[in-house]
Amino acid sequence: MSDNSSRLRIAIQKSGRLSDDSIALLKAIGIKLNIRDRLLIAHSTNENIDLLRVRDDDIPGLVMDGVVDLGFIGENELEEKMLERQAAGKAADFEVLRRLDYGGCRLSIAVPTEFNYTGVQALEGKKVATTYPYLLERFFKENGVNAKAVMLTGSVEVAPRAGVAHAICDLVSTGATLEANGLQEEEVIFRSKAVLIQRADGELSDEKLALINRLVPRIDGVIQAKESKYIMLHAPKAYLEQVKSLLPGAENPTVLPLAGSEDTVAIHVVSPENLFWETMEKLKALGCSSILVMPIEKMMG
Ligand code: ATP
Ligand code: MG
Repeated sequence: MSDNSSRLRIAIQKSGRLSDDSIALLKAIGIKLNIRDRLLIAHSTNENIDLLRVRDDDIPGLVMDGVVDLGFIGENELEEKMLERQAAGKAADFEVLRRLDYGGCRLSIAVPTEFNYTGVQALEGKKVATTYPYLLERFFKENGVNAKAVMLTGSVEVAPRAGVAHAICDLVSTGATLEANGLQEEEVIFRSKAVLIQRADGELSDEKLALINRLVPRIDGVIQAKESKYIMLHAPKAYLEQVKSLLPGAENPTVLPLAGSEDTVAIHVVSPENLFWETMEKLKALGCSSILVMPIEKMMG
């Protein structure tokens, strides 16, 4: 594989929890992709970009070894691989370009409901099954507990029932899997989201850096747009100040006259957050009407 290819290489998870959101983000920032399910490589048809579709475990190493330029990865996997490489005396250079708004989860220690958990010390001398032994060992060390991380790459949640370990340390989002397996979440040891990482800066060509510098603000624009709303309403002129103070981020709203009405104006504002029902009810109580809250697709500047 040549490192000096002029096409930007981006690693994404082939299939799993990060795949759909990562692809949706790439599409939202204007990258046209032709993804064939079974292929490792996907070429963009409108940008100098190739996607490398791999297991998420491989992504941190591909970036740190400079095989790809960018990677979408969960912070949990990234941190684990970083600790693993450090332990092996390997370089772990990379840069986090952006923390993203998906892939949220936590790495937690959970014990069977019959385990009398009184605190971290209750794990003393116990075996804990996990796919993240380095993160778990670090937690043990920081808490002065002498426990053993048992590495399992799958089915971690059945380890206690199978008699393989006393407890587990696994990724949790809703907690439904834990509950279904008679496990109780006790300690959150790491909170994670998906991030976009880049290989060490010095090794990237000017062309690639220029492309990255064009794409990253678009990611900001997509994330910002998802969190923002376009709000329109009719408001009584007499209560303009009160109405403004109820609208989040509306220091300088657009205020427009309404045809045929002396005492009512139209207000338009881009709000950095959603408008809650409670606020809409307060606006209505002030005499506002036609209150519309609309999604924004893209934002810039
Ligand atoms: P692969 O075959 O690529 O190795 P995997 O089984 O290791 O896949 P997934 O289960 O698809 O990985 O999870 C990928 C990442 O998604 C996790 O490392 C984590 O960052 C994130 N994630 C978000 N929510 C959850 C969750 N509830 N459980 C597990 N991972 C989650
Ligand atoms: Mg994996």
